[in-house]
Amino acid sequence: MTKVLIIGGGIAGPTLAVALTKIGLEVELFEAQPADAPQRGSWLNFQANGLDALRSIGVGHWVEELGYPVETMSFINGRGKELGRMPMAFRRPDGLSSRMVPRAELFTALAEMARHHGVTVHHNKRLASARNTDTGVVARFEDGTEATGDLLVGADGIHSTVRRIIDPAAPAPRYVPVLNAGEYIPDFSVPADPHDFRMQFGTRAFFAWMNTDDGGAVWFANPPMKQEPAKGVLSGMTDADWRRWLHELMDGDTGPAARIIDATPGPIHGFTTYDMPVVRRWHDGSRMIIIGDAAHATSPAAGQGASMSLEDAVILAKCLRDCPSTASAFTTYESLRRERVEKIVENGHRSSSDKAAGPIMRVLRDAILPGKFRAAAKDGGASMMWLQGHHIDFEERVVPATGEPDSRGLGARRLGARRLCDSTTTRLDASRLSARRLRPVP
Ligand SMILES: Cc1cc2nc3c(=O)[nH]c(=O)nc-3n(C[C@H](O)[C@H](O)[C@H](O)COP(=O)(O)OP(=O)(O)OC[C@H]3O[C@@H](n4cnc5c(N)ncnc54)[C@H](O)[C@@H]3O)c2cc1C
Repeated sequence: MTKVLIIGGGIAGPTLAVALTKIGLEVELFEAQPADAPQRGSWLNFQANGLDALRSIGVGHWVEELGYPVETMSFINGRGKELGRMPMAFRRPDGLSSRMVPRAELFTALAEMARHHGVTVHHNKRLASARNTDTGVVARFEDGTEATGDLLVGADGIHSTVRRIIDPAAPAPRYVPVLNAGEYIPDFSVPADPHDFRMQFGTRAFFAWMNTDDGGAVWFANPPMKQEPAKGVLSGMTDADWRRWLHELMDGDTGPAARIIDATPGPIHGFTTYDMPVVRRWHDGSRMIIIGDAAHATSPAAGQGASMSLEDAVILAKCLRDCPSTASAFTTYESLRRERVEKIVENGHRSSSDKAAGPIMRVLRDAILPGKFRAAAKDGGASMMWLQGHHIDFEERVVPATGEPDSRGLGARRLGARRLCDSTTTRLDASRLSARRLRPVP
Protein backbone atom coordinates (compact mmCIF):
# COMPACT_ATOMS: atom_id res chain seq x y z
CA MET A 1 0.00 0.00 0.00
CA THR A 2 1.28 3.49 -0.82
CA LYS A 3 2.49 5.24 2.31
CA VAL A 4 2.35 9.03 2.57
CA LEU A 5 4.34 11.05 5.10
CA ILE A 6 2.59 14.32 5.91
CA ILE A 7 4.67 17.05 7.51
CA GLY A 8 2.57 19.51 9.54
CA GLY A 9 -0.48 18.97 11.70
CA GLY A 10 -2.14 22.38 11.28
CA ILE A 11 -5.14 22.63 8.99
CA ALA A 12 -4.12 21.10 5.65
CA GLY A 13 -2.19 18.18 7.18
CA PRO A 14 -4.91 16.41 9.19
CA THR A 15 -7.47 17.03 6.45
CA LEU A 16 -5.23 15.53 3.78
CA ALA A 17 -4.54 12.60 6.11
CA VAL A 18 -8.25 11.84 6.41
CA ALA A 19 -8.86 12.29 2.67
CA LEU A 20 -6.02 9.87 1.92
CA THR A 21 -7.31 7.23 4.30
CA LYS A 22 -10.62 7.49 2.43
CA ILE A 23 -8.87 6.49 -0.80
CA GLY A 24 -7.12 3.62 0.90
CA LEU A 25 -3.61 5.04 1.35
CA GLU A 26 -1.51 4.62 4.48
CA VAL A 27 -0.63 7.89 6.22
CA GLU A 28 1.64 9.06 9.02
CA LEU A 29 1.54 12.66 10.17
CA PHE A 30 4.46 14.48 11.81
CA GLU A 31 3.95 17.72 13.73
CA ALA A 32 6.76 19.81 15.18
CA GLN A 33 4.79 21.10 18.16
CA PRO A 34 3.68 19.21 21.24
CA ALA A 35 0.00 18.19 21.29
CA ASP A 36 -0.91 20.92 23.77
CA ALA A 37 1.04 23.80 22.15
CA PRO A 38 -0.69 27.21 22.43
CA GLN A 39 -1.97 28.62 19.11
CA ARG A 40 -0.98 31.97 17.64
CA GLY A 41 -4.04 34.20 17.29
CA SER A 42 -7.34 33.55 18.99
CA TRP A 43 -9.95 33.18 16.24
CA LEU A 44 -10.17 32.20 12.64
CA ASN A 45 -12.89 33.13 10.18
CA PHE A 46 -13.63 29.93 8.35
CA GLN A 47 -15.34 30.61 5.04
CA ALA A 48 -18.00 28.49 3.37
CA ASN A 49 -15.70 27.01 0.70
CA GLY A 50 -13.49 25.52 3.43
CA LEU A 51 -16.47 23.98 5.16
CA ASP A 52 -17.57 22.64 1.78
CA ALA A 53 -14.18 20.92 1.37
CA LEU A 54 -14.55 19.23 4.75
CA ARG A 55 -18.12 18.19 3.95
CA SER A 56 -16.95 16.69 0.66
CA ILE A 57 -15.05 14.00 2.58
CA GLY A 58 -17.78 13.60 5.19
CA VAL A 59 -16.07 15.40 8.08
CA GLY A 60 -17.80 18.81 8.09
CA HIS A 61 -19.29 18.24 11.53
CA TRP A 62 -15.84 18.35 13.15
CA VAL A 63 -15.73 22.10 12.46
CA GLU A 64 -19.36 23.06 11.91
CA GLU A 65 -20.06 22.37 15.56
CA LEU A 66 -17.41 24.90 16.63
CA GLY A 67 -17.74 28.68 16.86
CA TYR A 68 -20.42 30.94 15.48
CA PRO A 69 -21.90 31.67 12.05
CA VAL A 70 -21.00 34.92 10.28
CA GLU A 71 -23.67 35.98 7.82
CA THR A 72 -22.62 39.49 6.87
CA MET A 73 -19.72 41.87 7.15
CA SER A 74 -20.57 45.57 7.52
CA PHE A 75 -18.10 48.41 7.22
CA ILE A 76 -17.79 51.92 8.67
CA ASN A 77 -15.04 54.49 8.44
CA GLY A 78 -13.30 56.34 11.27
CA ARG A 79 -16.10 58.88 11.56
CA GLY A 80 -18.67 56.10 11.85
CA LYS A 81 -20.01 56.62 8.30
CA GLU A 82 -21.58 53.45 6.91
CA LEU A 83 -19.58 52.18 3.92
CA GLY A 84 -21.71 49.12 3.20
CA ARG A 85 -22.61 45.56 4.07
CA MET A 86 -21.60 42.33 2.34
CA PRO A 87 -23.34 38.98 2.50
CA MET A 88 -21.18 35.92 3.15
CA ALA A 89 -22.13 33.61 0.29
CA PHE A 90 -25.74 33.16 1.30
CA ARG A 91 -26.56 32.12 -2.26
CA ARG A 92 -24.93 28.74 -1.80
CA PRO A 93 -27.54 26.08 -2.47
CA ASP A 94 -26.39 24.18 0.62
CA GLY A 95 -26.83 27.29 2.80
CA LEU A 96 -23.22 27.12 4.08
CA SER A 97 -21.91 30.41 5.44
CA SER A 98 -18.76 31.46 7.30
CA ARG A 99 -17.94 30.56 10.90
CA MET A 100 -15.76 32.27 13.47
CA VAL A 101 -13.94 29.41 15.14
CA PRO A 102 -11.65 29.52 18.19
CA ARG A 103 -8.23 28.66 16.83
CA ALA A 104 -7.17 26.33 19.63
CA GLU A 105 -10.44 24.38 19.40
CA LEU A 106 -10.07 24.12 15.63
CA PHE A 107 -6.56 22.66 15.75
CA THR A 108 -7.54 20.23 18.51
CA ALA A 109 -10.64 19.12 16.57
CA LEU A 110 -8.71 18.51 13.35
CA ALA A 111 -6.02 16.48 15.12
CA GLU A 112 -8.74 14.48 16.85
CA MET A 113 -10.50 14.00 13.51
CA ALA A 114 -7.30 12.52 12.04
CA ARG A 115 -6.84 10.13 14.95
CA HIS A 116 -10.49 9.14 14.75
CA HIS A 117 -9.83 8.04 11.15
CA GLY A 118 -6.91 5.87 12.20
CA VAL A 119 -4.11 8.29 11.28
CA THR A 120 -0.95 8.01 13.38
CA VAL A 121 -0.08 11.53 14.55
CA HIS A 122 3.43 12.07 15.92
CA HIS A 123 4.09 15.25 17.91
CA ASN A 124 7.47 16.86 18.70
CA LYS A 125 8.72 15.74 15.27
CA ARG A 126 10.27 18.67 13.42
CA LEU A 127 11.38 17.77 9.90
CA ALA A 128 15.02 18.70 9.29
CA SER A 129 15.62 17.23 5.82
CA ALA A 130 14.23 14.80 3.29
CA ARG A 131 15.67 12.90 0.33
CA ASN A 132 14.41 10.72 -2.45
CA THR A 133 15.85 7.22 -2.84
CA ASP A 134 15.36 4.63 -5.58
CA THR A 135 12.42 3.17 -3.72
CA GLY A 136 10.89 6.00 -1.74
CA VAL A 137 11.46 9.07 0.33
CA VAL A 138 13.24 9.39 3.67
CA ALA A 139 12.33 12.12 6.14
CA ARG A 140 14.82 13.03 8.84
CA PHE A 141 13.71 14.83 11.99
CA GLU A 142 15.60 17.15 14.31
CA ASP A 143 15.62 14.48 17.03
CA GLY A 144 17.70 12.28 14.71
CA THR A 145 14.94 9.79 13.88
CA GLU A 146 13.84 8.95 10.32
CA ALA A 147 10.65 7.83 8.60
CA THR A 148 10.26 6.32 5.14
CA GLY A 149 7.36 6.44 2.74
CA ASP A 150 6.45 6.55 -0.94
CA LEU A 151 5.44 10.23 -0.94
CA LEU A 152 6.04 13.22 1.30
CA VAL A 153 3.60 16.13 1.52
CA GLY A 154 4.70 19.40 3.11
CA ALA A 155 1.72 20.90 4.92
CA ASP A 156 4.17 22.70 7.16
CA GLY A 157 2.92 26.25 6.87
CA ILE A 158 4.29 29.54 5.65
CA HIS A 159 7.85 28.95 6.87
CA SER A 160 7.88 25.52 5.21
CA THR A 161 10.97 23.35 5.37
CA VAL A 162 9.66 21.12 2.59
CA ARG A 163 9.35 24.14 0.26
CA ARG A 164 13.08 24.79 0.70
CA ILE A 165 13.92 21.12 0.21
CA ILE A 166 12.02 21.08 -3.11
CA ASP A 167 13.47 24.43 -4.17
CA PRO A 168 16.36 25.85 -2.16
CA ALA A 169 15.93 29.10 -4.14
CA ALA A 170 12.26 29.50 -3.15
CA PRO A 171 11.45 33.06 -2.06
CA ALA A 172 11.01 33.96 1.59
CA PRO A 173 7.57 34.96 2.85
CA ARG A 174 6.59 38.59 2.12
CA TYR A 175 5.92 40.84 5.09
CA VAL A 176 2.35 42.22 5.22
CA PRO A 177 2.44 45.78 6.59
CA VAL A 178 -0.32 45.38 9.19
CA LEU A 179 -0.02 43.61 12.54
CA ASN A 180 -2.69 41.39 14.07
CA ALA A 181 -4.11 41.41 17.58
CA GLY A 182 -7.45 40.05 18.76
CA GLU A 183 -9.29 38.42 21.64
CA TYR A 184 -12.54 37.03 22.98
CA ILE A 185 -14.48 38.82 25.76
CA PRO A 186 -16.99 36.73 27.72
CA ASP A 187 -20.26 38.35 28.91
CA PHE A 188 -19.87 41.40 26.77
CA SER A 189 -21.95 42.97 24.06
CA VAL A 190 -20.87 45.14 21.12
CA PRO A 191 -23.00 47.32 18.82
CA ALA A 192 -23.56 44.93 15.88
CA ASP A 193 -26.46 42.97 14.42
CA PRO A 194 -26.54 39.22 15.19
CA HIS A 195 -23.98 37.32 13.06
CA ASP A 196 -22.71 40.56 11.51
CA PHE A 197 -18.96 41.14 11.69
CA ARG A 198 -18.66 44.91 12.05
CA MET A 199 -15.45 46.29 10.56
CA GLN A 200 -14.04 49.77 10.89
CA PHE A 201 -11.54 51.34 8.53
CA GLY A 202 -10.35 53.61 11.35
CA THR A 203 -8.30 56.73 10.79
CA ARG A 204 -5.12 55.01 11.95
CA ALA A 205 -5.99 51.30 12.24
CA PHE A 206 -8.50 48.68 11.19
CA PHE A 207 -10.70 47.37 14.02
CA ALA A 208 -13.47 44.73 13.91
CA TRP A 209 -15.96 43.28 16.38
CA MET A 210 -18.81 40.79 16.54
CA ASN A 211 -21.22 39.42 19.16
CA THR A 212 -21.03 35.69 19.75
CA ASP A 213 -24.00 33.39 20.40
CA ASP A 214 -22.82 32.61 23.93
CA GLY A 215 -23.18 36.20 25.13
CA GLY A 216 -19.60 37.28 24.49
CA ALA A 217 -17.81 39.19 21.73
CA VAL A 218 -14.75 38.75 19.54
CA TRP A 219 -12.59 41.50 18.10
CA PHE A 220 -9.40 42.00 16.17
CA ALA A 221 -7.28 44.98 15.21
CA ASN A 222 -4.73 45.55 12.45
CA PRO A 223 -2.30 48.28 13.48
CA PRO A 224 -0.36 49.36 10.39
CA MET A 225 3.42 48.93 10.48
CA LYS A 226 5.30 49.73 7.28
CA GLN A 227 8.58 48.08 8.22
CA GLU A 228 8.80 44.56 9.56
CA PRO A 229 9.55 44.89 13.30
CA ALA A 230 12.89 43.47 14.39
CA LYS A 231 12.89 40.12 16.14
CA GLY A 232 11.85 40.44 19.77
CA VAL A 233 10.10 43.79 19.40
CA LEU A 234 6.54 42.43 19.47
CA SER A 235 7.24 39.65 21.92
CA GLY A 236 8.75 42.31 24.18
CA MET A 237 5.51 44.30 24.25
CA THR A 238 3.44 43.86 27.40
CA ASP A 239 -0.33 43.73 27.69
CA ALA A 240 -0.23 47.34 28.95
CA ASP A 241 1.85 48.38 25.89
CA TRP A 242 -0.73 46.88 23.54
CA ARG A 243 -3.68 48.49 25.31
CA ARG A 244 -1.97 51.89 25.28
CA TRP A 245 -1.06 51.62 21.61
CA LEU A 246 -4.48 50.39 20.51
CA HIS A 247 -6.13 53.23 22.45
CA GLU A 248 -3.84 55.76 20.74
CA LEU A 249 -4.60 54.30 17.31
CA MET A 250 -8.38 54.37 17.80
CA ASP A 251 -8.47 57.67 19.71
CA GLY A 252 -10.93 60.11 18.13
CA ASP A 253 -12.64 57.51 15.93
CA THR A 254 -16.35 56.92 16.41
CA GLY A 255 -17.14 53.42 17.69
CA PRO A 256 -16.75 50.98 20.56
CA ALA A 257 -13.00 50.23 20.19
CA ALA A 258 -11.95 51.89 23.47
CA ARG A 259 -14.65 50.06 25.43
CA ILE A 260 -13.64 46.76 23.79
CA ILE A 261 -9.95 47.21 24.60
CA ASP A 262 -10.78 48.00 28.24
CA ALA A 263 -13.11 45.00 28.60
CA THR A 264 -10.65 42.47 27.17
CA PRO A 265 -9.39 40.11 29.86
CA GLY A 266 -6.02 39.81 28.08
CA PRO A 267 -3.17 39.50 28.01
CA ILE A 268 -3.31 41.06 24.55
CA HIS A 269 -0.65 39.84 22.11
CA GLY A 270 0.10 40.92 18.57
CA PHE A 271 1.68 39.18 15.58
CA THR A 272 3.36 40.05 12.37
CA THR A 273 1.83 38.46 9.28
CA TYR A 274 3.21 37.37 5.93
CA ASP A 275 2.04 36.06 2.61
CA MET A 276 3.60 33.94 -0.15
CA PRO A 277 2.66 35.44 -3.52
CA VAL A 278 4.16 33.06 -6.08
CA VAL A 279 6.01 29.88 -5.20
CA ARG A 280 7.26 28.63 -8.53
CA ARG A 281 7.86 25.02 -7.58
CA TRP A 282 5.18 23.18 -5.66
CA HIS A 283 6.59 19.72 -6.25
CA ASP A 284 9.68 17.86 -7.37
CA GLY A 285 7.88 15.91 -10.09
CA SER A 286 8.31 12.63 -8.28
CA ARG A 287 7.72 12.22 -4.55
CA MET A 288 7.47 15.55 -2.73
CA ILE A 289 4.83 18.28 -2.88
CA ILE A 290 3.69 21.24 -0.75
CA ILE A 291 0.12 22.33 -0.04
CA GLY A 292 -1.62 25.01 2.05
CA ASP A 293 0.35 27.97 3.38
CA ALA A 294 3.59 26.25 2.41
CA ALA A 295 2.65 26.79 -1.24
CA HIS A 296 0.56 29.98 -1.20
CA ALA A 297 -0.05 31.73 2.13
CA THR A 298 -2.44 34.66 1.93
CA SER A 299 -2.64 37.62 4.25
CA PRO A 300 -5.20 37.09 7.05
CA ALA A 301 -7.21 39.96 5.50
CA ALA A 302 -8.47 37.51 2.86
CA GLY A 303 -9.98 35.25 5.53
CA GLN A 304 -9.23 32.41 3.11
CA GLY A 305 -5.96 30.78 4.22
CA ALA A 306 -7.62 27.96 6.11
CA SER A 307 -10.24 27.34 3.45
CA MET A 308 -7.69 27.19 0.64
CA SER A 309 -5.65 24.71 2.67
CA LEU A 310 -8.69 22.48 3.02
CA GLU A 311 -9.51 22.71 -0.69
CA ASP A 312 -5.88 21.80 -1.46
CA ALA A 313 -5.98 18.75 0.79
CA VAL A 314 -9.13 17.29 -0.75
CA ILE A 315 -8.15 18.04 -4.34
CA LEU A 316 -4.67 16.53 -3.92
CA ALA A 317 -6.31 13.36 -2.60
CA LYS A 318 -8.59 13.25 -5.65
CA CYS A 319 -5.62 13.67 -7.98
CA LEU A 320 -3.67 10.90 -6.25
CA ARG A 321 -6.73 8.68 -6.55
CA ASP A 322 -7.49 9.34 -10.22
CA CYS A 323 -4.16 10.00 -11.96
CA PRO A 324 -2.04 7.19 -13.39
CA SER A 325 1.19 8.21 -11.62
CA THR A 326 2.37 10.48 -8.87
CA ALA A 327 3.97 12.83 -11.39
CA SER A 328 0.67 13.09 -13.23
CA ALA A 329 -1.20 13.64 -9.96
CA PHE A 330 1.14 16.48 -8.95
CA THR A 331 0.91 18.16 -12.36
CA THR A 332 -2.86 17.81 -12.46
CA TYR A 333 -3.17 19.11 -8.90
CA GLU A 334 -1.14 22.19 -9.75
CA SER A 335 -3.17 22.85 -12.86
CA LEU A 336 -6.37 22.76 -10.82
CA ARG A 337 -5.13 24.97 -8.01
CA ARG A 338 -2.53 27.54 -9.05
CA GLU A 339 -4.66 30.13 -10.78
CA ARG A 340 -7.31 30.19 -8.06
CA VAL A 341 -4.98 30.41 -5.07
CA GLU A 342 -2.73 33.06 -6.62
CA LYS A 343 -5.78 35.21 -7.34
CA ILE A 344 -6.87 34.88 -3.70
CA VAL A 345 -3.40 35.74 -2.41
CA GLU A 346 -3.39 38.86 -4.59
CA ASN A 347 -6.85 39.88 -3.33
CA GLY A 348 -5.67 39.41 0.25
CA HIS A 349 -2.68 41.62 -0.39
CA ARG A 350 -4.95 44.36 -1.77
CA SER A 351 -7.24 44.12 1.27
CA SER A 352 -4.26 44.50 3.60
CA SER A 353 -3.13 47.60 1.70
CA ASP A 354 -6.63 49.09 2.11
CA LYS A 355 -6.28 48.60 5.86
CA ALA A 356 -2.95 50.42 5.92
CA ALA A 357 -4.07 53.31 3.67
CA GLY A 358 -2.58 56.78 4.10
CA PRO A 359 -4.72 59.98 4.14
CA ILE A 360 -5.17 60.25 0.34
CA MET A 361 -5.85 56.57 -0.18
CA ARG A 362 -8.33 56.70 2.72
CA VAL A 363 -10.40 59.33 0.91
CA LEU A 364 -10.31 57.29 -2.31
CA ARG A 365 -11.12 54.07 -0.47
CA ASP A 366 -14.09 55.62 1.36
CA ALA A 367 -15.38 56.95 -1.98
CA ILE A 368 -14.98 53.68 -3.87
CA LEU A 369 -15.94 51.05 -1.29
CA PRO A 370 -19.65 51.96 -0.87
CA GLY A 371 -20.21 51.39 -4.60
CA LYS A 372 -18.45 48.03 -4.40
CA PHE A 373 -20.46 46.94 -1.37
CA ARG A 374 -23.73 48.15 -2.95
CA ALA A 375 -22.97 46.08 -6.03
CA ALA A 376 -22.14 43.03 -3.90
CA ALA A 377 -25.31 43.44 -1.82
CA LYS A 378 -27.43 43.94 -4.94
CA ASP A 379 -26.31 40.69 -6.53
CA GLY A 380 -26.87 38.84 -3.24
CA GLY A 381 -23.23 37.83 -2.96
CA ALA A 382 -23.11 36.32 -6.47
CA SER A 383 -19.93 38.24 -7.30
CA MET A 384 -18.20 36.45 -4.42
CA MET A 385 -19.42 33.01 -5.44
CA TRP A 386 -16.19 32.20 -7.29
CA LEU A 387 -14.56 32.43 -3.87
CA GLN A 388 -16.95 31.20 -1.21
CA GLY A 389 -19.17 29.25 -3.58
CA HIS A 390 -16.38 26.86 -4.58
CA HIS A 391 -17.69 23.30 -4.39
CA ILE A 392 -15.83 20.02 -4.41
CA ASP A 393 -17.48 16.77 -5.34
CA PHE A 394 -15.12 14.17 -3.93
CA GLU A 395 -16.68 11.38 -5.98
CA GLU A 396 -16.27 13.23 -9.27
CA ARG A 397 -13.24 11.93 -11.12
CA VAL A 398 -10.36 14.21 -11.98
CA VAL A 399 -9.18 14.22 -15.59
CA PRO A 400 -5.38 13.95 -15.55
CA ALA A 401 -3.48 16.80 -17.17
CA THR A 402 -1.90 15.63 -20.37
CA GLY A 403 1.71 16.20 -21.37
CA GLU A 404 4.94 16.12 -19.46
CA PRO A 405 5.18 17.95 -16.16
CA ASP A 406 7.30 21.08 -16.30
CA SER A 407 10.39 20.88 -14.10
CA ARG A 408 9.71 24.39 -12.84
CA GLY A 409 6.26 23.29 -11.80
CA LEU A 410 4.63 25.74 -14.20
CA GLY A 411 3.74 23.44 -17.05
CA ALA A 412 0.33 22.34 -15.94
CA ARG A 413 -1.29 25.69 -16.41
CA ARG A 414 -0.04 25.85 -19.96
CA LEU A 415 -1.35 22.35 -20.51
CA GLY A 416 -4.77 23.65 -19.61
CA ALA A 417 -5.89 20.66 -17.58
CA ARG A 418 -9.58 20.63 -16.81
CA ARG A 419 -11.69 19.25 -14.07
CA LEU A 420 -14.56 17.49 -15.76
CA CYS A 421 -17.86 16.45 -14.35
CA ASP A 422 -18.19 12.75 -15.06
CA SER A 423 -21.81 11.75 -14.88
CA THR A 424 -20.83 8.12 -14.63
CA THR A 425 -18.74 8.73 -11.50
CA THR A 426 -18.50 5.59 -9.44
CA ARG A 427 -18.36 5.56 -5.68
CA LEU A 428 -14.96 4.98 -4.14
CA ASP A 429 -14.05 1.37 -3.77
CA ALA A 430 -11.55 1.46 -0.91
CA SER A 431 -10.40 -2.12 -1.32
CA ARG A 432 -9.66 -1.59 -5.02
CA LEU A 433 -7.89 1.68 -4.33
CA SER A 434 -5.80 0.39 -1.48
CA ALA A 435 -4.65 -2.46 -3.67
CA ARG A 436 -3.55 -0.03 -6.38
CA ARG A 437 -0.06 1.26 -5.95
CA LEU A 438 0.68 4.75 -7.17
CA ARG A 439 3.65 4.82 -9.46
CA PRO A 440 6.19 7.47 -8.58
CA VAL A 441 8.40 8.56 -11.46
CA PRO A 442 11.95 7.43 -10.71
C1 LIG B 1 -2.99 36.08 12.96
C2 LIG B 1 -3.56 35.23 11.86
C3 LIG B 1 -4.93 35.28 11.60
C4 LIG B 1 -5.47 34.49 10.57
N1 LIG B 1 -6.81 34.54 10.34
C5 LIG B 1 -7.35 33.74 9.40
C6 LIG B 1 -8.76 33.74 9.18
O1 LIG B 1 -9.52 34.47 9.83
N2 LIG B 1 -9.26 32.90 8.22
C7 LIG B 1 -8.45 32.06 7.50
O2 LIG B 1 -8.96 31.30 6.66
N3 LIG B 1 -7.12 32.06 7.69
C8 LIG B 1 -6.55 32.86 8.61
N4 LIG B 1 -5.21 32.83 8.82
C9 LIG B 1 -4.39 31.94 7.96
C10 LIG B 1 -4.49 30.48 8.41
O3 LIG B 1 -4.14 30.36 9.77
C11 LIG B 1 -3.58 29.65 7.54
O4 LIG B 1 -3.83 29.92 6.19
C12 LIG B 1 -3.75 28.16 7.79
O5 LIG B 1 -3.48 27.88 9.15
C13 LIG B 1 -2.86 27.37 6.87
O6 LIG B 1 -2.96 26.01 7.16
P1 LIG B 1 -1.71 25.04 6.92
O7 LIG B 1 -2.14 23.72 7.42
O8 LIG B 1 -1.24 25.19 5.52
O9 LIG B 1 -0.55 25.64 7.83
P2 LIG B 1 -0.52 25.80 9.40
O10 LIG B 1 -1.87 25.90 9.98
O11 LIG B 1 0.45 26.91 9.66
O12 LIG B 1 0.10 24.44 9.90
C14 LIG B 1 1.44 24.10 9.65
C15 LIG B 1 1.87 23.12 10.73
O13 LIG B 1 3.14 22.59 10.39
C16 LIG B 1 3.94 22.53 11.55
N5 LIG B 1 5.34 22.57 11.11
C17 LIG B 1 6.05 23.63 10.63
N6 LIG B 1 7.29 23.27 10.30
C18 LIG B 1 7.37 21.96 10.56
C19 LIG B 1 8.43 21.01 10.44
N7 LIG B 1 9.65 21.35 9.96
N8 LIG B 1 8.19 19.72 10.81
C20 LIG B 1 6.97 19.36 11.29
N9 LIG B 1 5.94 20.22 11.44
C21 LIG B 1 6.15 21.51 11.07
C22 LIG B 1 3.53 23.73 12.36
O14 LIG B 1 3.84 23.56 13.73
C23 LIG B 1 2.01 23.77 12.09
O15 LIG B 1 1.28 23.03 13.04
C24 LIG B 1 -4.63 33.63 9.81
C25 LIG B 1 -3.26 33.58 10.08
C26 LIG B 1 -2.73 34.37 11.09
C27 LIG B 1 -1.25 34.29 11.36
